[in-house]
Amino acid sequence: MERIGLFGGSFDPVHLGHLLVARAACEEFSLDRIYFIPAARSPFKPDFAPADDRARMQLLRLALAGNPRMRVDSLELDRGGTSFSINTVRAYARRIPEAKLFWLIGADHVPTLHKWRDAPQLAKSVEFLIIPRPGQADTKPPDGFTAHHLRGFPLGVSSSQIRARVQQGLPIDYLTGSAVANSIRDNGLYL
Ligand code: ATP
Repeated sequence: MERIGLFGGSFDPVHLGHLLVARAACEEFSLDRIYFIPAARSPFKPDFAPADDRARMQLLRLALAGNPRMRVDSLELDRGGTSFSINTVRAYARRIPEAKLFWLIGADHVPTLHKWRDAPQLAKSVEFLIIPRPGQADTKPPDGFTAHHLRGFPLGVSSSQIRARVQQGLPIDYLTGSAVANSIRDNGLYL
């Protein structure tokens, strides 16, 4: 049975924290593939307009180039509107019915999982892989959810930090891949 990881987020832009988490998930839970799925609009950031879809997709493609286990999927961008995980999970269950699905989730979101759209069905459809963030204590999932903790590699990098550094004219190399950093500079993103 194929083991597939689904990694949703704004990816605005993708950074080394995301990439290291994906690697840890592959190694620790023997995933065959991970799909990075940029959200059209995050339910957690309703007032935030991310960089345009094509730019975020392009940065993800650059970041994941050459790693066949890591793929980008535009299905939430194509669907548009607020991106609810359950719709994405249903689409994957239809697309690869025989796969076992895992959903990567930041530790900060775990306590409110039961409030996610169609939470009971979500709980039956995927197992959650909880992403550690530096300084965050282990979080227990709500009743009914199956979740496992990832160990590696907590890294204090965020997309908002990268956007703020670009605005301040500070370098962003070492926070994300060099192809991603160059593309952000060449296309004048986040200025
Ligand atoms: P922002 O700073 O804009 O809020 P972000 O850096 O948290 O963005 P997102 O794209 O919103 O990035 O996050 C997608 C997923 O990746 C979330 O589940 C989040 O918890 C996780 N994530 C983000 N940064 C890191 C990091 N440094 N280490 C591990 N996981 C991370």
